[in-house]
Amino acid sequence: MKIVDIKTFLMMAGAPESTGSSSWSARNWCFVKIYTDEGIVGIGEGSGWPRVVQTAIEDLRPIVVGEDPMNIERIWQKMLISTMGAGMTGTPGSGAINAIDMALWDIKGKALNTPVWNLLGGQVRDRIRAYGHASTPERALELKEQGLTGVKTGGVHRTADKVEAIRKAVGDDMDIMVDAHGPPWFNAKDAIIVGKSLEQFNLLFYEDPVPPDNVDALRRVQDNVNIPIAAGERHSHIWGVRRLIEEEIVDVVQPDTGRIGGISQLMKIAAMAEAHYISVAPHSGSLGPVAEYAAIHVLAAIPNGLILERVHDDVPIRYDVVQPHIETVDGYIQVPDRPGLGVDIDEDVVAANPSRGNTSTPGSPDDGSYEPGTYEEHLYVQTRYRRQRTLRAPGSGA
Ligand SMILES: [Mg+2]
Repeated sequence: MKIVDIKTFLMMAGAPESTGSSSWSARNWCFVKIYTDEGIVGIGEGSGWPRVVQTAIEDLRPIVVGEDPMNIERIWQKMLISTMGAGMTGTPGSGAINAIDMALWDIKGKALNTPVWNLLGGQVRDRIRAYGHASTPERALELKEQGLTGVKTGGVHRTADKVEAIRKAVGDDMDIMVDAHGPPWFNAKDAIIVGKSLEQFNLLFYEDPVPPDNVDALRRVQDNVNIPIAAGERHSHIWGVRRLIEEEIVDVVQPDTGRIGGISQLMKIAAMAEAHYISVAPHSGSLGPVAEYAAIHVLAAIPNGLILERVHDDVPIRYDVVQPHIETVDGYIQVPDRPGLGVDIDEDVVAANPSRGNTSTPGSPDDGSYEPGTYEEHLYVQTRYRRQRTLRAPGSGA
């Protein structure tokens, strides 16, 4: 079998008119299809600045066309070496490699008439635990009623108050996570203070407490806060998360299924993590639905899969652009048994939603983009001047 063509499908994934929020105005999804001389077509997705990823995929075309798609590792290594002259790969580069790698696994599954999870070693589990996002107790309860057993809230601004309210609403049988989103001005001491205020809530994990490049600060947070630490969503491939795993700086590693470098890299990272008793909770915050399928196949096959992040009800177009939809029972994702990834995109829906930009606009406090009173925590540089308000202990009043 030979690869004969590659096509990219870039689309707007959350325009202002569909969400009522200008903060989502330039989120894109980039899908890829790889065509073979035997008529088998593989589908993949790349994240990490999707419009740039699209160009990178097109640049990689001559590296990939003509190869036998079954030789996934050979093609992966060719792609990496071909981009060395551009410097460190970065997330757009690894997003492009990621999309192609994912499509190759889809082709292999279809060619062998078996699901991707079967190629990865078979099923460890036939359903996947997932969590959703909530910034209010009402939203957390809504997720609980959907059957989800985990909920994540975000920010570093009055976080303990937020978690306390959510815990009171959902009770003790739902896991809560906090994502600090690693704001650039947040140092190790800030993160330790916030972390200590959260210890009483028995969180499943405390995510990105400091900026992801500040690995030494993350080490200090890990040593001083008694909550499992999670990080890794902004990194690329095995080398990006190597220190986090080898030095056991994280308890949970969070590769982004669209930009970590593909299913091949996810499996290697899972094995590296397993050797250090670290679990895997793939990041899915801005990803499209094809990458979500890839995460499901990986989580079905790895022993140390913890939980999958889901933004399943963020924008209606998520349900328009792929078929079939992910099936859930009692909040758990059912692992599909169709050949390959078991999903396809609707090209007409992609064409009807052309990209109109690729950077996020911060919106304004008045346009409905943010929960009341949370705008400044998104504009990180301003929050620095509200340290007392940000870091105060829970229950200390408004
Ligand atoms: Mg995150």
